[in-house]
Amino acid sequence: MAGRLQGKVAVITGAASGIGLGTVELFVAEGASVIAADIQDEKGAMLEKRFPGKVAYAHCDVTQEAEIEAAMKLAKSAFGGLDILFNNAGISDRMTSITEITADGWSWIFDVLVRGPALGMKHAVPLMLERGGGSIINTASIAGLQAGWGPIAYSSAKASVIHMSRAAAAQLSPQKIRVNAICPGLIATSIFGASLGLPREVADQMAARVADNAAKVQPVPKAGMPDDIAKAALYLASEDSAFVSGTHIVVDGGITVGGRHAW
Ligand code: NAD
Repeated sequence: MAGRLQGKVAVITGAASGIGLGTVELFVAEGASVIAADIQDEKGAMLEKRFPGKVAYAHCDVTQEAEIEAAMKLAKSAFGGLDILFNNAGISDRMTSITEITADGWSWIFDVLVRGPALGMKHAVPLMLERGGGSIINTASIAGLQAGWGPIAYSSAKASVIHMSRAAAAQLSPQKIRVNAICPGLIATSIFGASLGLPREVADQMAARVADNAAKVQPVPKAGMPDDIAKAALYLASEDSAFVSGTHIVVDGGITVGGRHAW
């Protein structure tokens, strides 16, 4: 049976670990060719080896417009065009308060989380138009919906991603390019430890702990894993969501609706 993304070409940013990596694996399994864009070159090279002819790695720091443009162009030169963009690369900072965060701190978070996806869309759209349309998915967060889930700049940036996705959808949907956001809850990835500058092993333990602790209180009693988000990205990337644009999907085990019933 043909996969749900058979013949499609996707660019995935932040593809070397966590949610991005889980999405590379799922998209390839569903028939897509993937440009895995990240700044972790060693992991990117390993992905190319793991999926020969299906994954090409692009060194792409999403704060650098030229590198973003080159990653999009690679989709065309390596695989013939571009149908799907998953703007997923992300960072977080320490739980810096509004009185402590520096001007540079604000710029760094917004450059990666907001300006990066914006420039990704800018350079993906012309290629998608050549193919008659496409699907853009931006990773936001429950932190962009409710206060208290992340540092202040991170939360503000993720709220911006949700609204930028709506605004882009209004512009691009008539040209058959749908734009949506995903708001993950607490997912076991290295982002928590990475923001504290912890070594990989400690970061991984921290990731598992955060997701396991969430599983004890959120309505769905399981730890959130990267493939939980990859499956939502697959839905938004595929024709199954042909009538869905300008919205966000919350994938959080129900944690934003409240705690679990005691009976
Ligand atoms: P992760 O740390 O495992 O993955 C993030 C990836 O982004 C890494 O591979 C990293 O190298 C890459 N990256 C960082 N800066 C980059 C840059 N400037 N240019 C290109 N790539 C860069 O974390 P993750 O949880 O998989 O994060 C993926 C997305 O999910 C992020 O946007 C994050 O904010 C979002 N998110 C995560 C959670 C969670 O609980 N893990 C919750 C909500 C939202």
